[in-house]
Amino acid sequence: MGLVIQKFGGSSVASAEHIRSAAAVVVHCQAAGHKPLVVVSAMGGETDRLLGLARETSASPSRRELDMLLSAGEQISVALFAMALREAGCEARSFLGSQVRILTDSVFCKAHIREVETSRLQAYMASGGIPVVAGFQGVDAEGEVTTFGRGGSDTTAVALAAALGADECQILTDVDGIYTTDPRVVPEARRLSRITFEEIIELASQGSRVLQIRAVKFAGKYNVPVRVLHMSGRGEGTLISFEEPGVEAPLVSGIAFSRDEAEITLVGVPNRPGAAAAILGPVSAARIQVDMIVMNAPRDGCVDFSFSVDRSDYAQAMDLVHAAAAELGAAQVLGNDAVAKLSVVGVGMRTHAGIASHMFEALAAEGINVRMVSTSEIKISVMMADKDIDAAVRSLHRAFELDQPAGRRRN
Ligand code: ADP
Ligand code: ASP
Ligand code: MG
Repeated sequence: MGLVIQKFGGSSVASAEHIRSAAAVVVHCQAAGHKPLVVVSAMGGETDRLLGLARETSASPSRRELDMLLSAGEQISVALFAMALREAGCEARSFLGSQVRILTDSVFCKAHIREVETSRLQAYMASGGIPVVAGFQGVDAEGEVTTFGRGGSDTTAVALAAALGADECQILTDVDGIYTTDPRVVPEARRLSRITFEEIIELASQGSRVLQIRAVKFAGKYNVPVRVLHMSGRGEGTLISFEEPGVEAPLVSGIAFSRDEAEITLVGVPNRPGAAAAILGPVSAARIQVDMIVMNAPRDGCVDFSFSVDRSDYAQAMDLVHAAAAELGAAQVLGNDAVAKLSVVGVGMRTHAGIASHMFEALAAEGINVRMVSTSEIKISVMMADKDIDAAVRSLHRAFELDQPAGRRRN
């Protein structure tokens, strides 16, 4: 008998009918001899609805109140889910993050988990009960409700799996596994039966929202076996593998993209030590994450300096950069928040050259201009106008033959 965490995302619990179907998957898991523990997201669209209400009410809502508000979405779905399990004849009970005691730091809206208390859940499971835990939320040392950022229920599931030593952490969703790219954009995308931990880290951090990046990092730290599968529980889905990739590892395993990017360029920055620090220091002090950075070779003692941030941080970053530019004596500040980023990921890149040139040729053939580039050992990311992103994803998916079974690809 194994302990299995089953996390249901918003679309899997979007209505009472969906919740009853999801509960049937849990009943089936228990009937197969496992001990299930359920983690649930808010009903599909609910978190967005609550956010919309907050924006209608206040131009800049307090982060504490936002957490109080958003955590209510999961409070509704866990109660309904526990009711559905009880209706199906199971002993089940819902738990909020504060009742389990998922302890976090006090950074509202982006809290990190510090510790998960397991005694209450363990006692309940020992008596044959199925706990239904609210995803996305915890509690800080002062008893304040905190949340983990969009998609944070994945992190709750993996954290509980780690703390309880679960045999598997299942992420049940509206697709039947992890694909070579978002199947909503490329219908020919293929499901991967396995993906290496390093690859899913890159895909998740580059915008593939199938798993929250924090959940993937947690899984890596505690070696949690994670499987993404369809909400019906059928099929083998995609298993995240911690094994070393074999020699025939595909060159490119997947393509991720993010539509929520913005870039900022300082033109004519005097090229002296400390200039880059003077630009980026205030940005990072404001907890704004800088992603790509490009600086050209100096000409006439000056450089142009560009970097990208998440679009939600654009306005604040522009204000900070204008102040830094005035101090540095930079000629001009340019901003563009109509950009998007595409990333090609694969562990096979380590041992093969030529991926970048193949990528640029394919983009050129579509007439797509690249604005910034960054690379890691197993990833190449390019920034482009956001109107080009869908065409770019489709053309690179074809160029790297990701629509073909791995064994049949030429590259
Ligand atoms: P949930 O509400 O269950 O958490 P999400 O919407 O967060 O579901 O994540 C599932 C979605 O992720 C899919 O509907 C799909 O559009 C998107 N997605 C993006 N990239 C991928 C990928 N590589 N493989 C599978 N799904 C992906
Ligand atoms: N309900 C939260 C969100 O929509 C958390 C989650 O679904 O994982 O982002
Ligand atoms: Mg999600």
